[in-house]
Amino acid sequence: MTQAAILFKEWSGYLKPEDITQLESAYHFSEAAHEGQFRKTGEPYISHPLAVASILAEWHLDTQALTAALLHDVMEDTAVTKTEISRNFGKPVAELVDGVSKLDRIEFETHEVAQAENFRKMLLAMARDVRVILIKLADRLHNMRTLDAVESDKKRRIARETLDIYAPIANRLGLNRIYQELEDLAFQHLYPDRYRVLSKAVKAARGNRREVVSKVMDSIKRRLKSSGVEAQVHGREKHLYSIYRKMREKHLSFAQVLDVFGFRILVKDVAGCYLALGALHSLFKPIPGKFKDYVAIPKANGYQSLHTTLFGPFGSPMEIQIRAIEMHKIAEAGVASHWLYKSSDTSLSDLQKKTHQWLQSLLEMQSQSGDSVEFLEHLKVDLFPDEVYVFTPKGKIMALPRGATAVDFAYAVHTDIGNRCVAVKINQDLMPLRTELKNGDRVEIITAAHAKPNPLWLNFVVTAKSRSRIRHFLKTMHYQESSQLGERLLNQALGALGSALGEIKGAQWDRFLRDAGAKSREEILADIGLGKRLAAVVARRLLPLGEPGSNEVPMPGSVIIRGSEGLAVQFAQCCKPIPGDPIIGIISKGQGMVIHTHDCPAIIRARHDPDRILDVAWDPDTRKLFDVSIKLVVANQRGVLAKVAAEIAGAGSNIQNVAVDPEDGSDYTNMYFTLQVSDRLHLARILRSLRGITEVVRLSRV
Ligand code: MN
Repeated sequence: MTQAAILFKEWSGYLKPEDITQLESAYHFSEAAHEGQFRKTGEPYISHPLAVASILAEWHLDTQALTAALLHDVMEDTAVTKTEISRNFGKPVAELVDGVSKLDRIEFETHEVAQAENFRKMLLAMARDVRVILIKLADRLHNMRTLDAVESDKKRRIARETLDIYAPIANRLGLNRIYQELEDLAFQHLYPDRYRVLSKAVKAARGNRREVVSKVMDSIKRRLKSSGVEAQVHGREKHLYSIYRKMREKHLSFAQVLDVFGFRILVKDVAGCYLALGALHSLFKPIPGKFKDYVAIPKANGYQSLHTTLFGPFGSPMEIQIRAIEMHKIAEAGVASHWLYKSSDTSLSDLQKKTHQWLQSLLEMQSQSGDSVEFLEHLKVDLFPDEVYVFTPKGKIMALPRGATAVDFAYAVHTDIGNRCVAVKINQDLMPLRTELKNGDRVEIITAAHAKPNPLWLNFVVTAKSRSRIRHFLKTMHYQESSQLGERLLNQALGALGSALGEIKGAQWDRFLRDAGAKSREEILADIGLGKRLAAVVARRLLPLGEPGSNEVPMPGSVIIRGSEGLAVQFAQCCKPIPGDPIIGIISKGQGMVIHTHDCPAIIRARHDPDRILDVAWDPDTRKLFDVSIKLVVANQRGVLAKVAAEIAGAGSNIQNVAVDPEDGSDYTNMYFTLQVSDRLHLARILRSLRGITEVVRLSRV
């Protein structure tokens, strides 16, 4: 029988006659389109789409998907168009083929940015219709199975890409068998020598212990039976790449990794799982800390099982998985089990829904974060599901990636909770927001109505959701603050031309906006605040021609700095100005205004662009505290640091940071403090009281 004939015979087992007719016509269509093309293996090209369709048929995918699989390369490799497919086989099929073709066009490059960008496109396609990715995975699987015929450079590239991208996606979608096969094939082509050595060793080891395994299996079966648990017991083999990965990651020898027996026990239902567990724990002692209950708390990809490790009878540990038959289906086929077992089982449709939600959240995330590399980084956290499970105050379970903090939890509950969180209670105790959550923690977020996200949170949050929400909030806030600053800058620049913002008429604005190609005044003002446009230039263009006609241009006033402008005004880290210091503002493109002291070397560097330098002055009553650095030379004596710290505290200042030069045997040593002060007078007061300490030899602001 030909490949096609075998396939159609199989299909007739689960498809209706009219479906078979459509598939037959798709097959002939595809064969005609690929006429004269050959695979690298030398076979006619049509053998490939047939193989892909046959892989999908193992999951009992629907006729649309199978039709698309047969046609998946015609748009890419032949002159057939989407319209043609749509006319012959319907719009849904054409969309699927189009989706797969778009993925084909993605060249994954080693360059990380390109890779991230492409990965993103792939997820987009997947989010629209998960069948696209199933076809793509089947396509990749067949290409991997026939990779021998491909030249070695390309082979390595495809194998690497499979390991980095396709296998993790298969894993995330719960397509376990495909995931393992993809990894092993990639391993084989990427590291042929290691693969050979390892597979030989594994075979030998398995041969040697066959007897032991069957003895253990018999005793397990007997115990389950005497406990009245109906179960099937299977030996379980790890796939090669997972053995290799374990050796590498945990620096284990081959003997150590393989010195573990694996068994899988399939039972009827959930109750059976726990009964079997009890029976086994009374047969062999469990290793403490190794028990995991994925039945009560499934993994994100829907996986459910009890995992336990037992001290085996021959000194080797035994890893046991216990699950119900229904759970086993999902464990093997993941999201594809929806097609495979067209049952109305709630756990299946639930998985379908969850996968959809996951894809939807990816879509949302990618539209918010502009940075592909960051997106990929965070997606990796999502794709390698290492999760912690915590509880809300109402006892609801939330799954978060390992390393997630209280802030991540807050954003997972709701964006508003994240944006307004100020403190957290973990298991009733108040803890810092950056605290990493542990399995089983009960987490209660405390919010305040006017609280805002802190940019520093970006240093410790781990979920893409919290990161993108914080970014988004800061961006919006930055925009508002920048446009407020821009308004003040523009008003000042207009003042220098003898006008004022209030005098600019609507028509003048409209003309300016049209010329500048901007959407709103707000946008122009934000641009000014961010330094993307110069206030002086905007001011000149806003005024009608001929103005200012008069020669008596008043002196421009200073822009008043209050210290409360938020993100729009930054205080330079190089000279750390404090109120009372003579200051100058420099507008830098995209960053907005940075305030420096008069004598800061940064000003000299900005001289070539005088329009960017602004006259600024302190508001007489700034309420904020400012950082300032001081340096002390002190005699090397016991307790001097404590004395200095006490004086500083006594003068009403906070110490933000202390550093002391390492002991070098000399009589004197340098100390550096970063303090918070309200202004120059405050600083002077502190310095004066420090001079009163006898051990302080020299004292200066840095
Ligand atoms: Mn293909």
